[in-house]
Amino acid sequence: MNGAAGDEVREMRTSALFDTMRPLLTREQTELWRSTADFALNELDDDIDERETGFSRANWNRCAEFGVIGLPVPTAFGGRGADVTTAVLAFDALGYAHRDNGLLFSIGAHLWSCVMTLARHGTPEQRRRYLPDLCGGGLIAAHAMTEPGTGSDAFALRTTADPVDGGWALNGVKTFITNAPVADVFVVFAAEVARPSPYGILCLLVDASTPGVAVGPAMDKMGLRTSPMSEVRFEDCFVPEPGLVGRPGMGMAIFNEAIHLERACILASALGTMQRQIERSAHALKPLLGRARGYEIVADRLAEMAARLYGSRLLAYELAQRIDAGRTKPAESALVKVKLSEAFVDNSRDAHHNDLALGGPAARECEREIGDAAAGRIYSGTNEIQRNIIARGLGLR
Ligand SMILES: Cc1cc2nc3c(=O)[nH]c(=O)nc-3n(C[C@H](O)[C@H](O)[C@H](O)COP(=O)(O)OP(=O)(O)OC[C@H]3O[C@@H](n4cnc5c(N)ncnc54)[C@H](O)[C@@H]3O)c2cc1C
Repeated sequence: MNGAAGDEVREMRTSALFDTMRPLLTREQTELWRSTADFALNELDDDIDERETGFSRANWNRCAEFGVIGLPVPTAFGGRGADVTTAVLAFDALGYAHRDNGLLFSIGAHLWSCVMTLARHGTPEQRRRYLPDLCGGGLIAAHAMTEPGTGSDAFALRTTADPVDGGWALNGVKTFITNAPVADVFVVFAAEVARPSPYGILCLLVDASTPGVAVGPAMDKMGLRTSPMSEVRFEDCFVPEPGLVGRPGMGMAIFNEAIHLERACILASALGTMQRQIERSAHALKPLLGRARGYEIVADRLAEMAARLYGSRLLAYELAQRIDAGRTKPAESALVKVKLSEAFVDNSRDAHHNDLALGGPAARECEREIGDAAAGRIYSGTNEIQRNIIARGLGLR
């Protein structure tokens, strides 16, 4: 973040909150948080106010060069071989120091759903061919599951992969696909016609340049507007056998694993954003305290925001550590996703409310954050669906 906004964040970082708002971290983790925040402040263009809806490929590439896109990917595949906790930490820092939530969401969708799927289930050839560039910024991926009318009921797919000589003929429509307008490759889920059940779902890797792939115009949305999204159509699109990820019938398991990771990690950047919101209001409030009684209400709201952030951080980091330890259940990522996304919505509303009380110094940013936060209740499965998963985990469904 260059310019005046960057100076303000640097000044805010002297506040006591900077050191107390994170769970206990090791010295190395604290250093990574700081160096990632410094990278974002110094190297990423802070031009979101001018861009509004435009995707920044330049900032994407800088994040890739810094190493954050391939952070949890094994070094043998072009990543940095870090654990999930470290990656969550880095996204937390990026969310604090960079205001383009759409970019960070796009990177998260690419990393958690696509790159990690290939790292875990790709064939040696798929890993060799795609992962170094997916980590290094040369390629962008999109995860294509949702279809018109089958969002929450994800496995009721109508997209089909009909076996043909040497591969499959892919036909169907996917919608709300993050990164689709800029994607080089799609991770697509389709039902094998011969096996119309959740156990007959294939996960296919499809190059965007394949004949029969048609990417629709970019969709506008109220939040995350710098994260490009569109519909994708597949019409008699031939996917050769080497495009299969995992084995036939593994599509449901691969999707469930990817969405678990995505739900656990994709809101990590919102933690940093929530910290910045608190520090932004606190910074504007301090000189006004004692001048009028009304400002105490702003301080009370900030305390509530801090409590939501603190709880969210503990949950997010604890789950990341459990993922690294290989001890997690779907209900846990559902819970983290619900808590973080709703804390982000509530804190964004409170930040806006505070800003109005303080004379509106960050009005535009507050409005943008409200839209960005609202999307969190929907993507990676709506929060209603997450509550169903949590209830199932409690044995109540
Ligand atoms: C910003 C953003 C990015 C996205 N990126 C991607 C992407 O990259 N790839 C991708 O595949 N998809 C993506 N999606 C799609 C997203 O996963 C779906 O929008 C979501 O799963 C909901 O599906 P739907 O929109 O079809 O709503 P529906 O499933 O039609 O649901 C409509 C409403 O009914 C409720 N509902 C439905 N069924 C139940 C139930 N059983 N119990 C209780 N309530 C229920 C839902 O909670 C919701 O409120 C993205 C969405 C957003 C907003």
